[in-house]
Amino acid sequence: DSHPASVLHAFRDMADHRPGHPALRYFDGTLSYGELDELSKGFARHLAGHGFAPGDRLAVMLQNVPQFVIALLGAWKAGGAVLPVNPMYKARELTHVLTDAGAAGLVCSPAAWERYARAAAAGTAVRLAFTASEFDLQTRDDPRALTGERPAGPAEDAPDLLAVARAAAGPRLGLPLPAAGDTALVSYTSGTSGRPKGALNTHGNISFNAHRQVRIQELPEDAVLFTLAPLFHITGMVCELAAALVGGHTLALAHRFEPGVVLDAFREHRPAYTVGPATAFMALLARPDAIAADFASFKLISSGGAPLPPAVVEGFRARTGRYLANGYGLTECTAPCASVPPGTEAPVDPVSGTLAVGVPGPGTMVRVLDDTGAEVPIGEPGEIAVSGPMVVPGYWQRPAESREAIPDGELRTGDIGFMDEDGWLYVVDRKKDMINASGFKVWPREVEDVLYTHPAVREAAVVGVPDSYRGESVKAYVSLRPGTAADPAELVTWCRERLAAYKYPRAVEVLGELPKTASGKILRRELKVLAGQGADQDRAAA
Ligand code: ATP
Repeated sequence: DSHPASVLHAFRDMADHRPGHPALRYFDGTLSYGELDELSKGFARHLAGHGFAPGDRLAVMLQNVPQFVIALLGAWKAGGAVLPVNPMYKARELTHVLTDAGAAGLVCSPAAWERYARAAAAGTAVRLAFTASEFDLQTRDDPRALTGERPAGPAEDAPDLLAVARAAAGPRLGLPLPAAGDTALVSYTSGTSGRPKGALNTHGNISFNAHRQVRIQELPEDAVLFTLAPLFHITGMVCELAAALVGGHTLALAHRFEPGVVLDAFREHRPAYTVGPATAFMALLARPDAIAADFASFKLISSGGAPLPPAVVEGFRARTGRYLANGYGLTECTAPCASVPPGTEAPVDPVSGTLAVGVPGPGTMVRVLDDTGAEVPIGEPGEIAVSGPMVVPGYWQRPAESREAIPDGELRTGDIGFMDEDGWLYVVDRKKDMINASGFKVWPREVEDVLYTHPAVREAAVVGVPDSYRGESVKAYVSLRPGTAADPAELVTWCRERLAAYKYPRAVEVLGELPKTASGKILRRELKVLAGQGADQDRAAA
């Protein structure tokens, strides 16, 4: 493979040769490659002048705003790594990642400042704190109004990121480019399975996958990529931001996922590519004003980072006329490791009804292993293991967990899946989400896929509930499409008619909305806690 050592290598070429080409669009504003280069160099110079050393970590706790990109490229140019932080984190969660990573600096919005101040008071102050408050590209309206975010707390002490970047932006300055093995990101996994730990994505990991994305996307040079996924999550970081910069394209940012704003942005920027979780596409289609023409500019639309029920692909096609391509990835393999090759469609496994996630990309090796670590035959389920230039070398300061998750450089994903004869990979479910009902294995995904075929179901999640008779029993949580109705008994029957007796949910509960991570994944873990509490109450009542 011949990818350059880092995304900065490709970015420098664009800044040198096509400085006027738009790199970022944010509402009505634009930053060119040249401007983005100067601002990020200015920020790098400021950091270096204030004791930020190569190898230091800068926490970036921002939505999809231009300052995210300036901070990221600036930290990289200063030889440091970025620790993307979910802007929804409360003081307690922020304290955990800042302390765990030993962050030297932080960039956050004024709205988050108060939470940082509390983390700092608890002993996790960073040496260099910045706010990203003002953005004077002409914006159509203040995007903070969309989120209800208001500047809060006394953030005056902290310098503004853009102000320091502008003050230090000067004549051209040569900065050493990173080596492939240098850490680019300390990516805290989204925490659907326990306490977040920091995966160390190297510059080489990101460059490899970004160049691979560019080959898959096959976009014309003046293409616009749209950020549906958050940039603080690896999918948005690699498939949207890094791919846009490496391909010399333009990235359109819209602050954060807000269905109405996203549709407006589609109409205005006419993007050719975007990727997001299935839940984001369902939310877009839930808007009555969404029409097929809104999606006409896309060359490729991908769903990634979370399960994609086949019924959602069909629903999406019925409404938009477009194919929603599945893609499979993890933080530990720097986003995508399997995707649907251009010009093809992923098959559905006739037995389980599961949609294939794709085929392993070039340079990517996928094996399916049994409990002893031996490869299972084609078609048999086992743990998916991935190796290739995109797999992280390990977790930040967790040698034991790194060895366990990535023995000999091969990532044990914790996902159960199988490979078919044509090389398509299917993800059955997460190993730890398996439900053991009377000794039978039930994979929640299969039950969820059936629920999604019911016309009233908008979202579905299935969990195991402690059951004194069966050990665990299957319970489903659903939310319904606006203007529809379905009672739990009807949904139980729907599943009973389509699934073996041990698989169908014994109980269905309808909620207004299912709990999700900031990247749009449904949090089964929270539902399991909820279900457990319900089961306890039932027992107490009995
Ligand atoms: P944590 O590791 O803390 O639990 P997380 O797993 O949500 O957080 P990510 O690295 O963002 O962190 O998620 C990767 C997981 O998402 C995969 O292991 C897999 O279970 C799931 N996933 C990703 N893409 C797909 C897909 N196309 N189909 C099914 N599952 C997917």
